[in-house]
Amino acid sequence: MQETILNDLKMPYCPGCGHTVANKSMSKALADLGLHPLDVIVVSDIGCTGLVDPLLTCHTIHGLHGRAVALAMGIRMGLEHPEKKIIALQGDGGATIGLQHLLEAARHNLDLTLVVQNNMVYGMTGGQTSGLSSTEFKEPDRPESAVPGYDICALAHNAGAAYTARTFIGKDTAELWKEALSTPGFSLIEIVEMCPAYGMRKVQELHDTADYESVVTRNPRTVGLPHRVSGRSLLDGMKPIERTCEAPLEGRLEIIVAGSAGEAIQSAGDLLSTAGITAGLSATKKGDYPITIGTGFSVAEVILSRQPIHYTGIDCPDIMIVISQDGLDKVRSRIGAHTLVIADTKLGPELAELAGEIGANGEIGANGATGANGATGPNGPTGASGLPGPPDLVTRDFRKTGGSKGAALAAIAFWLQDNGFLPIEALAEAASRHKHGDKMKVIIDKAVAA
Ligand code: SF4
Ligand SMILES: [Mg+2]
Repeated sequence: MQETILNDLKMPYCPGCGHTVANKSMSKALADLGLHPLDVIVVSDIGCTGLVDPLLTCHTIHGLHGRAVALAMGIRMGLEHPEKKIIALQGDGGATIGLQHLLEAARHNLDLTLVVQNNMVYGMTGGQTSGLSSTEFKEPDRPESAVPGYDICALAHNAGAAYTARTFIGKDTAELWKEALSTPGFSLIEIVEMCPAYGMRKVQELHDTADYESVVTRNPRTVGLPHRVSGRSLLDGMKPIERTCEAPLEGRLEIIVAGSAGEAIQSAGDLLSTAGITAGLSATKKGDYPITIGTGFSVAEVILSRQPIHYTGIDCPDIMIVISQDGLDKVRSRIGAHTLVIADTKLGPELAELAGEIGANGEIGANGATGANGATGPNGPTGASGLPGPPDLVTRDFRKTGGSKGAALAAIAFWLQDNGFLPIEALAEAASRHKHGDKMKVIIDKAVAA
């Protein structure tokens, strides 16, 4: 794990974007304060500011537009580690959309830091002005006719924020970050920036504008709600998962299970991650499906690891289990050179063609792969992580084994039975915790027998 909060990835912003400088200041301030990335939680918002997530080595949460502060408040109230630093990052658009949250955080003086990167436009959607745009910025020819933007520092200060500061991106803002992060209670820094893509033509107006002045204000106050308020936690009442067997897996394994809505893809992912914990591993599981649940794709991302899992993202999985066309359409671009694909028979021809195409580009099994009933690909009899496993592409009639709602589970059981990463008993044990456990066990048994 790196010690700095920024990893080595290239910043995704347009050349000259103020967000690049702001992120570097954040990294410098946290390093100067001696904070380890795992002591920091960053909540980002929709908009160009929110592109920061992949760059960070700390805990991250990406919120809906304008809701970063609301999420940060929830974390502070629920987290039993008052020493952890919580930082919310918003643009000017998100800050005005979520203004009520910001005022509530200031009013309660919750211990978190909000950084508003104010470039006066909605950069991601093409440069529309926001509630924080200056009058000159909105109406360069007739500033007197424009409605003035909010003075967000004054609003937060008057609502009770312990610390507010406004500065300009040309300056080294790390010192302000350090002050804000070291002040108990709610702190806000507004960094007035420039969006070269959509705001450059207004640079002169920005620099000339009288709307913005550097300020620092303080409210010496008691910090609000440092610990979780009374009430039930989502974790209360959860049955602990007991370790009942041992997994041979030594490293980290990334698995994607893809199918259609209504095919119990998420349940299959839950079961696989629970099986991992049952066998003594760390496990994470994430779901991805359209808002209109009940139609379209459903994807579950599972990570199993001998070591603690700090990063829960998967770009290119070790194992891809695909049981329907919806699922394949959603995840096909994530198949990589080392990916072992286990698919329903019907998808075999398309996957074989895909493997051949990608192989020609040198990205996946250069030997290609074949469809129905499985054939050996370039990994030979050994799968990812060096344990015995099936070849690169294996197809079976998982729908026949498990039905539409059990095909994903059948594919998982088939894979586990064959590769030895996890004992198959761990999957059966996980099923016994599920309300449909009896039916699941039947599917697991059938898959193993098949
Ligand atoms: S559109 Fe504007 S805010 Fe977004 S990355 Fe480009 S310069 Fe930065
Ligand atoms: Mg903006």
